[in-house]
Amino acid sequence: METNRLAGKGKRFAARLYRMRVIGLGIGFFCVASVFAQAQPRVSPWLWAGLIFHGFIWPHLAYRAALAWTVPYRGERFNLMIDSALGGFWLIAMRFNILPSMLILAMLSMNSIAAGGVRLFVRGIVAQLLGAVLGAALLGLAFAPQSQMPTILACLPFMILYPLALGLLTYRLSQKLAKQARELERLSQTDGLTGLWNRRHWEDLLAEWFERCRQDREACCLVLFDLDHFKDVNDTEGHAAGDAALRSFALFLRGSLRPQDIAGRYGGEEFGVIMPGVRLPEAQRMVERLLFNLRARAGHAGEALRCTSSAGLAEYSPGLGDINEWVLEADRCLYAAKANGRDCLVTSEWDPGSARRNAIG
Ligand code: GH3
Ligand code: MG
Ligand code: MG
Repeated sequence: METNRLAGKGKRFAARLYRMRVIGLGIGFFCVASVFAQAQPRVSPWLWAGLIFHGFIWPHLAYRAALAWTVPYRGERFNLMIDSALGGFWLIAMRFNILPSMLILAMLSMNSIAAGGVRLFVRGIVAQLLGAVLGAALLGLAFAPQSQMPTILACLPFMILYPLALGLLTYRLSQKLAKQARELERLSQTDGLTGLWNRRHWEDLLAEWFERCRQDREACCLVLFDLDHFKDVNDTEGHAAGDAALRSFALFLRGSLRPQDIAGRYGGEEFGVIMPGVRLPEAQRMVERLLFNLRARAGHAGEALRCTSSAGLAEYSPGLGDINEWVLEADRCLYAAKANGRDCLVTSEWDPGSARRNAIG
Protein backbone atom coordinates (compact mmCIF):
# COMPACT_ATOMS: atom_id res chain seq x y z
CA MET A 1 0.00 0.00 0.00
CA GLU A 2 2.72 2.43 1.10
CA THR A 3 4.92 1.41 -1.85
CA ASN A 4 2.00 1.96 -4.26
CA ARG A 5 1.41 5.41 -2.86
CA LEU A 6 5.09 6.28 -3.13
CA ALA A 7 5.24 4.87 -6.65
CA GLY A 8 2.43 7.20 -7.73
CA LYS A 9 4.06 10.15 -6.05
CA GLY A 10 7.44 9.20 -7.56
CA LYS A 11 6.09 9.08 -11.12
CA ARG A 12 4.84 12.65 -10.93
CA PHE A 13 8.09 13.73 -9.28
CA ALA A 14 10.11 12.00 -12.03
CA ALA A 15 7.98 13.65 -14.74
CA ARG A 16 8.59 17.07 -13.18
CA LEU A 17 12.33 16.50 -12.88
CA TYR A 18 12.42 15.18 -16.45
CA ARG A 19 11.09 18.47 -17.79
CA MET A 20 13.49 20.45 -15.61
CA ARG A 21 16.43 18.30 -16.73
CA VAL A 22 15.59 18.67 -20.41
CA ILE A 23 15.51 22.46 -19.99
CA GLY A 24 18.38 22.84 -17.51
CA LEU A 25 20.87 20.44 -19.07
CA GLY A 26 19.88 21.45 -22.61
CA ILE A 27 20.73 25.11 -22.06
CA GLY A 28 23.46 24.35 -19.49
CA PHE A 29 25.26 22.49 -22.30
CA PHE A 30 26.04 25.81 -24.01
CA CYS A 31 27.73 27.26 -20.90
CA VAL A 32 30.28 24.45 -20.76
CA ALA A 33 30.51 24.15 -24.56
CA SER A 34 31.51 27.81 -24.87
CA VAL A 35 34.40 27.23 -22.43
CA PHE A 36 35.45 24.08 -24.31
CA ALA A 37 35.28 25.92 -27.65
CA GLN A 38 37.80 28.51 -26.44
CA ALA A 39 40.05 26.09 -24.57
CA GLN A 40 43.73 25.79 -25.45
CA PRO A 41 44.94 23.10 -25.96
CA ARG A 42 41.85 21.71 -27.65
CA VAL A 43 39.45 19.65 -25.58
CA SER A 44 39.44 15.93 -26.32
CA PRO A 45 36.58 14.57 -28.47
CA TRP A 46 35.73 12.26 -25.57
CA LEU A 47 34.91 15.22 -23.38
CA TRP A 48 32.76 16.71 -26.13
CA ALA A 49 30.97 13.39 -26.48
CA GLY A 50 30.44 13.25 -22.71
CA LEU A 51 29.08 16.79 -22.69
CA ILE A 52 26.64 16.06 -25.53
CA PHE A 53 25.57 12.88 -23.76
CA HIS A 54 24.95 14.76 -20.49
CA GLY A 55 23.16 17.68 -22.13
CA PHE A 56 20.85 15.88 -24.52
CA ILE A 57 20.74 12.12 -23.90
CA TRP A 58 21.04 11.76 -20.13
CA PRO A 59 17.72 13.54 -19.31
CA HIS A 60 15.79 10.89 -21.27
CA LEU A 61 17.80 7.99 -19.88
CA ALA A 62 17.48 9.33 -16.33
CA TYR A 63 13.69 9.50 -16.64
CA ARG A 64 13.43 5.94 -17.92
CA ALA A 65 15.84 4.69 -15.27
CA ALA A 66 13.86 6.41 -12.51
CA LEU A 67 10.59 4.86 -13.70
CA ALA A 68 12.23 1.43 -13.60
CA TRP A 69 12.75 1.77 -9.83
CA THR A 70 10.00 0.33 -7.62
CA VAL A 71 9.75 3.77 -6.08
CA PRO A 72 10.71 6.24 -8.85
CA TYR A 73 11.14 8.96 -6.22
CA ARG A 74 14.19 7.13 -4.88
CA GLY A 75 15.45 6.61 -8.44
CA GLU A 76 15.25 10.36 -9.02
CA ARG A 77 17.17 11.12 -5.84
CA PHE A 78 19.89 8.80 -7.12
CA ASN A 79 19.79 10.58 -10.51
CA LEU A 80 20.18 13.91 -8.77
CA MET A 81 23.38 12.60 -7.21
CA ILE A 82 24.65 11.63 -10.67
CA ASP A 83 23.78 15.17 -11.84
CA SER A 84 25.81 16.54 -8.95
CA ALA A 85 28.78 14.27 -9.60
CA LEU A 86 28.80 15.21 -13.31
CA GLY A 87 28.54 18.87 -12.29
CA GLY A 88 31.69 18.47 -10.16
CA PHE A 89 33.38 16.77 -13.12
CA TRP A 90 32.54 19.64 -15.53
CA LEU A 91 33.96 22.14 -13.06
CA ILE A 92 37.36 20.44 -13.32
CA ALA A 93 37.02 20.03 -17.10
CA MET A 94 36.32 23.80 -17.39
CA ARG A 95 39.29 24.56 -15.14
CA PHE A 96 36.96 26.38 -12.76
CA ASN A 97 35.84 28.97 -15.33
CA ILE A 98 34.10 31.19 -12.82
CA LEU A 99 30.70 32.06 -14.31
CA PRO A 100 29.59 28.65 -15.63
CA SER A 101 31.10 26.96 -12.55
CA MET A 102 29.13 29.12 -10.14
CA LEU A 103 25.98 28.76 -12.22
CA ILE A 104 26.25 24.98 -12.29
CA LEU A 105 26.88 24.83 -8.54
CA ALA A 106 23.97 27.18 -7.81
CA MET A 107 21.51 25.31 -10.05
CA LEU A 108 22.57 21.89 -8.72
CA SER A 109 22.16 23.14 -5.16
CA MET A 110 18.74 24.57 -5.98
CA ASN A 111 17.68 21.25 -7.48
CA SER A 112 18.83 19.05 -4.64
CA ILE A 113 17.53 21.34 -1.89
CA ALA A 114 14.15 21.66 -3.66
CA ALA A 115 13.90 17.90 -4.12
CA GLY A 116 15.16 16.62 -0.77
CA GLY A 117 15.92 19.47 1.62
CA VAL A 118 19.20 20.06 3.43
CA ARG A 119 19.98 16.35 3.57
CA LEU A 120 19.98 15.89 -0.18
CA PHE A 121 21.83 19.19 -0.55
CA VAL A 122 24.67 17.90 1.66
CA ARG A 123 24.73 14.60 -0.21
CA GLY A 124 24.83 16.59 -3.44
CA ILE A 125 27.95 18.40 -2.26
CA VAL A 126 29.60 15.08 -1.47
CA ALA A 127 28.67 13.81 -4.95
CA GLN A 128 30.07 17.00 -6.53
CA LEU A 129 33.34 16.48 -4.66
CA LEU A 130 33.50 12.85 -5.82
CA GLY A 131 32.87 13.97 -9.42
CA ALA A 132 35.58 16.62 -9.07
CA VAL A 133 38.07 14.07 -7.70
CA LEU A 134 37.30 11.76 -10.64
CA GLY A 135 37.74 14.69 -13.04
CA ALA A 136 41.06 15.65 -11.46
CA ALA A 137 42.25 12.03 -11.67
CA LEU A 138 41.35 11.77 -15.38
CA LEU A 139 42.15 15.29 -16.62
CA GLY A 140 44.56 16.71 -14.07
CA LEU A 141 43.97 19.86 -12.06
CA ALA A 142 44.26 23.19 -13.85
CA PHE A 143 43.00 26.63 -12.90
CA ALA A 144 41.75 29.21 -15.44
CA PRO A 145 38.85 31.05 -13.76
CA GLN A 146 38.52 34.05 -16.12
CA SER A 147 35.19 34.04 -18.05
CA GLN A 148 35.36 35.57 -21.53
CA MET A 149 32.52 37.45 -23.21
CA PRO A 150 31.35 34.48 -25.39
CA THR A 151 31.06 32.38 -22.23
CA ILE A 152 29.14 35.12 -20.42
CA LEU A 153 26.73 35.36 -23.36
CA ALA A 154 26.38 31.58 -23.56
CA CYS A 155 25.51 31.50 -19.85
CA LEU A 156 22.76 34.13 -20.09
CA PRO A 157 19.93 31.82 -21.22
CA PHE A 158 20.75 29.37 -18.44
CA MET A 159 20.95 32.16 -15.88
CA ILE A 160 17.55 33.56 -16.88
CA LEU A 161 15.49 30.64 -18.12
CA TYR A 162 16.28 27.97 -15.56
CA PRO A 163 15.30 29.97 -12.44
CA LEU A 164 12.14 31.05 -14.31
CA ALA A 165 11.27 27.42 -15.06
CA LEU A 166 11.97 26.41 -11.46
CA GLY A 167 9.90 29.33 -10.16
CA LEU A 168 6.98 28.36 -12.38
CA LEU A 169 7.23 24.75 -11.23
CA THR A 170 7.23 25.83 -7.57
CA TYR A 171 4.26 28.13 -8.17
CA ARG A 172 2.26 25.36 -9.85
CA LEU A 173 3.12 22.97 -7.03
CA SER A 174 2.00 25.45 -4.39
CA GLN A 175 -1.26 26.03 -6.30
CA LYS A 176 -1.85 22.29 -6.40
CA LEU A 177 -1.05 21.99 -2.72
CA ALA A 178 -3.47 24.79 -1.84
CA LYS A 179 -6.20 23.05 -3.87
CA GLN A 180 -5.51 19.76 -2.11
CA ALA A 181 -5.60 21.50 1.27
CA ARG A 182 -9.02 22.97 0.40
CA GLU A 183 -10.29 19.57 -0.73
CA LEU A 184 -8.94 17.95 2.43
CA GLU A 185 -10.63 20.56 4.56
CA ARG A 186 -13.93 19.96 2.77
CA LEU A 187 -13.56 16.20 3.26
CA SER A 188 -12.82 16.64 6.96
CA GLN A 189 -16.01 18.66 7.32
CA THR A 190 -18.50 16.50 5.45
CA ASP A 191 -20.19 13.25 6.27
CA GLY A 192 -19.06 10.52 3.88
CA LEU A 193 -22.45 8.85 3.48
CA THR A 194 -24.82 11.79 3.08
CA GLY A 195 -22.57 14.65 1.96
CA LEU A 196 -24.06 16.87 4.69
CA TRP A 197 -21.79 18.59 7.24
CA ASN A 198 -20.45 16.11 9.75
CA ARG A 199 -21.23 16.54 13.43
CA ARG A 200 -17.97 18.24 14.38
CA HIS A 201 -18.22 20.90 11.68
CA TRP A 202 -21.94 21.33 12.13
CA GLU A 203 -21.38 22.00 15.83
CA ASP A 204 -18.72 24.57 14.92
CA LEU A 205 -21.27 26.31 12.71
CA LEU A 206 -23.84 26.10 15.49
CA ALA A 207 -21.34 27.71 17.87
CA GLU A 208 -20.85 30.54 15.35
CA TRP A 209 -24.61 31.11 15.18
CA PHE A 210 -24.88 30.93 18.95
CA GLU A 211 -22.35 33.78 19.20
CA ARG A 212 -24.14 35.82 16.53
CA CYS A 213 -27.44 35.39 18.36
CA ARG A 214 -25.84 36.39 21.64
CA GLN A 215 -23.95 39.42 20.34
CA ASP A 216 -26.20 40.72 17.55
CA ARG A 217 -29.54 39.50 18.94
CA GLU A 218 -30.26 37.64 15.73
CA ALA A 219 -33.02 35.03 15.68
CA CYS A 220 -32.11 31.41 15.03
CA CYS A 221 -33.80 28.03 15.48
CA LEU A 222 -32.30 24.60 15.95
CA VAL A 223 -34.06 21.41 14.82
CA LEU A 224 -33.06 17.81 15.50
CA PHE A 225 -34.56 15.05 13.38
CA ASP A 226 -34.52 11.34 14.25
CA LEU A 227 -35.90 8.88 11.71
CA ASP A 228 -38.64 6.71 13.13
CA HIS A 229 -38.13 2.97 13.62
CA PHE A 230 -35.09 3.16 11.42
CA LYS A 231 -33.69 -0.01 12.88
CA ASP A 232 -36.56 -1.85 11.20
CA VAL A 233 -35.38 -0.63 7.78
CA ASN A 234 -31.98 -2.19 8.41
CA ASP A 235 -33.50 -5.34 9.89
CA THR A 236 -36.01 -5.96 7.11
CA GLU A 237 -34.32 -4.52 4.01
CA GLY A 238 -30.65 -4.73 4.89
CA HIS A 239 -27.93 -2.26 5.75
CA ALA A 240 -27.43 -1.10 2.13
CA ALA A 241 -31.10 -0.12 1.88
CA GLY A 242 -30.68 1.68 5.22
CA ASP A 243 -27.74 3.62 3.79
CA ALA A 244 -29.74 4.49 0.69
CA ALA A 245 -32.59 5.73 2.89
CA LEU A 246 -30.18 7.95 4.86
CA ARG A 247 -28.79 9.43 1.63
CA SER A 248 -32.29 9.93 0.38
CA PHE A 249 -33.30 11.73 3.57
CA ALA A 250 -30.27 14.01 3.28
CA LEU A 251 -31.29 14.93 -0.27
CA PHE A 252 -34.86 15.47 0.86
CA LEU A 253 -33.66 17.74 3.67
CA ARG A 254 -31.54 19.80 1.29
CA GLY A 255 -34.41 20.12 -1.14
CA SER A 256 -36.89 21.12 1.57
CA LEU A 257 -34.79 23.72 3.38
CA ARG A 258 -33.87 27.29 2.46
CA PRO A 259 -30.36 27.84 1.06
CA GLN A 260 -29.25 29.52 4.27
CA ASP A 261 -30.34 26.63 6.50
CA ILE A 262 -27.42 24.49 7.69
CA ALA A 263 -28.00 20.74 7.73
CA GLY A 264 -25.63 18.24 9.29
CA ARG A 265 -25.62 14.57 10.17
CA TYR A 266 -25.62 14.54 13.93
CA GLY A 267 -24.98 10.80 14.13
CA GLY A 268 -26.56 7.53 12.92
CA GLU A 269 -30.07 8.42 11.73
CA GLU A 270 -30.13 11.76 13.51
CA PHE A 271 -29.80 15.07 11.69
CA GLY A 272 -29.46 18.64 12.89
CA VAL A 273 -30.55 21.80 11.09
CA ILE A 274 -29.67 25.37 12.00
CA MET A 275 -32.29 27.81 10.71
CA PRO A 276 -30.85 31.31 10.85
CA GLY A 277 -33.05 34.38 10.94
CA VAL A 278 -36.36 32.72 11.86
CA ARG A 279 -38.44 32.82 15.01
CA LEU A 280 -40.07 29.73 16.42
CA PRO A 281 -43.55 29.96 14.82
CA GLU A 282 -42.13 30.32 11.32
CA ALA A 283 -39.60 27.51 11.86
CA GLN A 284 -42.40 25.36 13.24
CA ARG A 285 -44.47 25.89 10.08
CA MET A 286 -41.48 25.01 7.91
CA VAL A 287 -40.63 21.82 9.81
CA GLU A 288 -44.26 20.69 10.01
CA ARG A 289 -44.57 21.08 6.24
CA LEU A 290 -41.33 19.13 5.83
CA LEU A 291 -42.61 16.28 8.03
CA PHE A 292 -45.89 16.30 6.15
CA ASN A 293 -44.10 15.95 2.79
CA LEU A 294 -41.89 13.22 4.22
CA ARG A 295 -44.95 11.32 5.45
CA ALA A 296 -46.56 11.58 2.01
CA ARG A 297 -43.37 10.30 0.44
CA ALA A 298 -43.00 7.40 2.86
CA GLY A 299 -46.37 6.13 1.68
CA HIS A 300 -45.17 5.54 -1.88
CA ALA A 301 -44.11 2.02 -2.76
CA GLY A 302 -40.66 1.80 -4.40
CA GLU A 303 -39.43 4.85 -2.53
CA ALA A 304 -35.91 4.50 -1.05
CA LEU A 305 -36.96 6.52 1.96
CA ARG A 306 -39.95 4.85 3.52
CA CYS A 307 -39.88 6.11 7.07
CA THR A 308 -41.15 9.16 8.84
CA SER A 309 -39.23 11.35 11.24
CA SER A 310 -39.70 12.91 14.64
CA ALA A 311 -38.32 16.38 15.28
CA GLY A 312 -37.44 18.63 18.19
CA LEU A 313 -37.25 22.40 17.71
CA ALA A 314 -35.65 24.93 20.05
CA GLU A 315 -35.27 28.65 19.37
CA TYR A 316 -32.23 30.48 20.66
CA SER A 317 -32.92 32.30 23.89
CA PRO A 318 -30.56 34.46 25.97
CA GLY A 319 -31.06 32.05 28.88
CA LEU A 320 -29.00 29.36 27.10
CA GLY A 321 -25.47 29.12 28.51
CA ASP A 322 -23.80 27.38 25.55
CA ILE A 323 -24.59 25.27 22.49
CA ASN A 324 -24.78 22.11 24.59
CA GLU A 325 -27.75 23.55 26.45
CA TRP A 326 -29.33 24.54 23.15
CA VAL A 327 -28.86 21.03 21.67
CA LEU A 328 -30.09 19.51 24.93
CA GLU A 329 -33.25 21.58 24.70
CA ALA A 330 -33.89 20.43 21.09
CA ASP A 331 -33.09 16.85 22.13
CA ARG A 332 -35.55 17.05 24.99
CA CYS A 333 -38.21 18.13 22.47
CA LEU A 334 -37.21 15.30 20.15
CA TYR A 335 -37.66 12.75 22.94
CA ALA A 336 -41.05 14.26 23.71
CA ALA A 337 -41.97 13.87 20.02
CA LYS A 338 -40.99 10.18 20.19
CA ALA A 339 -43.01 9.77 23.37
CA ASN A 340 -45.91 11.55 21.69
CA GLY A 341 -46.20 8.79 19.10
CA ARG A 342 -43.40 9.75 16.62
CA ASP A 343 -43.84 11.38 13.18
CA CYS A 344 -44.42 14.78 14.78
CA LEU A 345 -42.70 17.94 15.89
CA VAL A 346 -42.34 19.16 19.45
CA THR A 347 -41.05 22.67 20.10
CA SER A 348 -39.60 24.28 23.21
CA GLU A 349 -42.93 26.04 23.66
CA TRP A 350 -44.80 22.76 23.50
CA ASP A 351 -47.66 22.30 25.84
CA PRO A 352 -48.27 18.58 26.53
CA GLY A 353 -51.89 19.39 27.37
CA SER A 354 -52.62 20.52 23.82
CA ALA A 355 -50.46 17.87 22.16
CA ARG A 356 -51.52 16.90 18.68
CA ARG A 357 -49.91 15.24 15.74
CA ASN A 358 -48.92 17.81 13.20
CA ALA A 359 -51.16 17.65 10.18
CA ILE A 360 -51.15 20.01 7.27
CA GLY A 361 -53.39 20.07 4.25
P1 GH3 B 1 -36.81 5.33 17.05
O1 GH3 B 1 -38.07 5.55 16.29
O2 GH3 B 1 -37.06 5.21 18.52
O3 GH3 B 1 -35.78 6.35 16.75
O4 GH3 B 1 -36.27 3.92 16.60
P2 GH3 B 1 -35.00 3.62 15.74
O5 GH3 B 1 -35.10 2.19 15.29
O6 GH3 B 1 -34.85 4.63 14.65
O7 GH3 B 1 -33.86 3.90 16.77
P3 GH3 B 1 -32.59 3.13 17.19
O8 GH3 B 1 -31.69 4.14 17.84
O9 GH3 B 1 -32.94 1.92 17.99
O10 GH3 B 1 -31.94 2.63 15.87
C1 GH3 B 1 -31.20 3.43 15.04
C2 GH3 B 1 -30.68 2.57 13.95
O11 GH3 B 1 -29.99 3.31 12.97
C3 GH3 B 1 -29.71 1.53 14.47
C4 GH3 B 1 -28.57 1.55 13.51
O12 GH3 B 1 -28.29 0.29 13.01
C5 GH3 B 1 -29.05 2.43 12.38
N1 GH3 B 1 -27.97 3.20 11.80
C6 GH3 B 1 -27.21 4.14 12.39
N2 GH3 B 1 -26.30 4.60 11.50
C7 GH3 B 1 -26.49 3.94 10.35
C8 GH3 B 1 -25.84 3.96 9.06
O13 GH3 B 1 -24.90 4.71 8.79
N3 GH3 B 1 -26.33 3.12 8.10
C9 GH3 B 1 -27.37 2.27 8.34
N4 GH3 B 1 -27.79 1.49 7.36
N5 GH3 B 1 -27.97 2.21 9.55
C10 GH3 B 1 -27.54 3.03 10.53
MG1 MG C 1 -31.63 7.64 16.99
MG1 MG D 1 -34.58 6.67 15.11
